[in-house]
Amino acid sequence: MTDSSSSGGTADVAVVGAGPNGLAAAVTLARAGLRVDVLERNAYAGGGASTQPLTEPGFVHDLASAVHPMALASPFFRAFELDRRIDLLVPEISFGHPLPDGRVGLAWHDLDRTADGLGRDGAAYRRLLAPLVEHLDAVNDFTTQSLIGVPRKPWGAFLFGLRALEQGTPAWNLRFQDEVAPALLTGAGAHVIGRHPRLSMAGGGLALTVNAHGRGWPVPRGGSQAISNALVADLEAHGGRVLLGREVTSYDDIADYRTVLLDTSTKALLDIYGTRLPHRYRVALQQFRPGNAASKVDFALSGPVPWADPDLARTPTVHLGGTRAQIAAAERDVAHGRVPHDPYILVTQPSVLDPSRAPEGQAVLWAYAHVPYNSAADMTETITAAVERHAPGFRDVVISSTATPASELGRFSANFEGGDFANGAVNMLQMVRRPVLSPSPWRTPLEGVYLASSAAAPGPSVHGLAGWYAARLALRERFGLDAPDLSVAAG
Ligand SMILES: Cc1cc2nc3c(=O)[nH]c(=O)nc-3n(C[C@H](O)[C@H](O)[C@H](O)COP(=O)(O)OP(=O)(O)OC[C@H]3O[C@@H](n4cnc5c(N)ncnc54)[C@H](O)[C@@H]3O)c2cc1C
Repeated sequence: MTDSSSSGGTADVAVVGAGPNGLAAAVTLARAGLRVDVLERNAYAGGGASTQPLTEPGFVHDLASAVHPMALASPFFRAFELDRRIDLLVPEISFGHPLPDGRVGLAWHDLDRTADGLGRDGAAYRRLLAPLVEHLDAVNDFTTQSLIGVPRKPWGAFLFGLRALEQGTPAWNLRFQDEVAPALLTGAGAHVIGRHPRLSMAGGGLALTVNAHGRGWPVPRGGSQAISNALVADLEAHGGRVLLGREVTSYDDIADYRTVLLDTSTKALLDIYGTRLPHRYRVALQQFRPGNAASKVDFALSGPVPWADPDLARTPTVHLGGTRAQIAAAERDVAHGRVPHDPYILVTQPSVLDPSRAPEGQAVLWAYAHVPYNSAADMTETITAAVERHAPGFRDVVISSTATPASELGRFSANFEGGDFANGAVNMLQMVRRPVLSPSPWRTPLEGVYLASSAAAPGPSVHGLAGWYAARLALRERFGLDAPDLSVAAG
């Protein structure tokens, strides 16, 4: 990687932004034999897959993504054989969810073990998930494409659609008698910010839950940066360059490149190309709305979290927010522009599997609470109190913490401006039209310009797919080239 003093302009392609999608695009283009420059605003590559110091000496923290079901599920990362390049540590318990009355839902990697722990809702939970786990590849295939198009494996897509319809509508409680199983599902669905029940929450939640019981929810040894470093290493091995400290703000910054892929927000696309874009496309991008937000806190801990339920100390991911009804109420507050009193909180504790993030015996943890777009609320006390309720003594193990309110999340990636970590609200309209209604939404009306970020289908998460799809389109349309083999052996 090189700093901002290096000059660009001689490459075939510029990729703007070194997030997982930008790097996936760059690797694909470089492997096809093209000269690729990646222009990155930050002083490090990785965007939402970066691990940096944030608190105490010797502690490193995932700035954004921490847990990676899609690293195992994504067709791009499978083709790239990510699991042969880095250590993806798969926990026995994918995620946990304590309830206010002390009961705890556990999503074991093993579906049957999960169902066995759910009492009288166990059979209903198994019937909901088992057919999807059985058709895992079809489900992943369906959920990782543009939603405009014919599913390649229709039976799996049908089974998934039926269940999303049930869990995304007022019918969502019909199969359940108790509170633990619905809370477990809603905790996963709330990875997508929005009102419940909704199809987009149910679809996102089911896709994550199926993978929890399918290939698992791993954390990379060394942090999410390991994913980015593997991509950068492959790019550089094929002649590509990452130019750091290079924010692209206008067309002039990239005028020398005849083909440009943007791992950016739609707002950046509008700012860079302005009136060069046709009026209708500009209007469509202006109608693409940001989503609500995350207010994040990173903690340096003197030891593990003293969870009251010892099983919660075995999983990297814990969902807080109470029952299904309580989470739905908190998310309604956020949708109305209010910071909830008891928000949905996503906790990750990668040190459970990966001691390399902190000095011996110590640990890192991040948690974020859902808040309205651009909220400046510092959620340190709310989050600390919520963890303390299920882990008495948590305060005593906190050495220090760093808060990043939603209004400041754009420091980590320009695409997270206002705390919108999805780079555009995730609702049914904006998942079908992401960011425009097209079977190839990565193509812009400008010749040689492609949108390659999570603002384009299939949306947020570290899967590299928007970058991969955009790069394959560019290879075909601009250079008459086929998609290259990305495997380790082909490198
Ligand atoms: C707090 C948080 C937690 C998350 N947790 C998870 C998780 O556990 N698992 C998961 O799968 N996903 C998670 N996500 C979501 C995930 O990080 C994103 O969906 C993913 O990073 C999107 O990848 P991307 O390449 O499209 O964009 P980004 O990762 O945002 O990368 C874009 C890159 O482009 C650069 N850039 C943008 N505009 C310009 C410009 N004009 N000029 C130069 N450079 C530019 C940015 O600086 C950035 O480096 C989380 C996100 C957040 C914020």
